[in-house]
Amino acid sequence: MTTINKDPETIRARNRKTLGAIKTEDLEVIFPSNGLDVMALKKTDLTISSGEFVCILGPSGCGKSTLLNVIAGFVDATSGSAFLDGNKIESPGSERSMVFQQHSLLPWKTVRENIALGPELIKDNEATKTTDHFLDMVGLKKFEHHYPEQLSGGMQQRVGIARAMATYPKVLLMDEPFGALDYQTRLVMQEHLLQLWAEFNSTVLFVTHDTDEAIFLSDRILVMSASPGRVVLDIENPLPRPRTQLIFTDPAFIELKRRCMEIIIKESMQLR
Ligand code: ADP
Ligand code: MG
Repeated sequence: MTTINKDPETIRARNRKTLGAIKTEDLEVIFPSNGLDVMALKKTDLTISSGEFVCILGPSGCGKSTLLNVIAGFVDATSGSAFLDGNKIESPGSERSMVFQQHSLLPWKTVRENIALGPELIKDNEATKTTDHFLDMVGLKKFEHHYPEQLSGGMQQRVGIARAMATYPKVLLMDEPFGALDYQTRLVMQEHLLQLWAEFNSTVLFVTHDTDEAIFLSDRILVMSASPGRVVLDIENPLPRPRTQLIFTDPAFIELKRRCMEIIIKESMQLR
């Protein structure tokens, strides 16, 4: 994969307009389920700054995906609200893009056509150029006419990320995007995501089960409680950027990991 060098002025001009601050106030989501209501999120108050890279950890079923889905506008709050740059989120919008754990590419479209869905969605009048740019950025130019099933898992996720970023979103919502990848591929994808983020400055909310991944990527880590989910640890990541995988041996890394894991273990035990 190559870093982005095409049209840096265009990208910077778009980014200058980019904001992407998120706020939730007393956010609660209750799902009716066979007569038994499931409270997926409880009284969640969050403030995420524009351009911040926030990772979310927490036991399975604690409401991480629900939180992302509310911010994406896919799921309605039962009470409380979520805001993007001060505007209440009530529906999906192209300024918020989601990347899922399993790729959500259209199998009958090629790599190029899948990525082009992004610029077409925002009626980008330079859709072809933008698509070329993002194909190049994720290193898939040679595979532009391949179909998703002809790609490896890592390549499929790269297409998903390219498509999500090709709308120049203010907010990138990533729900365990590398969870299905092997360890080596995951490390490579993490590095590339940081390069993209450095270039684009989108706000990123990244859900993961992997504490190392959360620390490697984030400015800040949120740990959520067992269901019903609420934020029980909100901690700044002190590790300087740029980072390499060598941070895994840094004492500050170990200390941060210990603090996160203490809470995760405690919360996971409550599921038993
Ligand atoms: P996580 O992503 O942390 O694993 P989710 O946000 O997917 O958790 O789910 C939180 C809780 O809400 C779980 O108990 C889950 O079963 C429930 N839930 C999620 N989506 C729905 C839905 N559409 N209908 C009913 N229950 C749901
Ligand atoms: Mg989930």
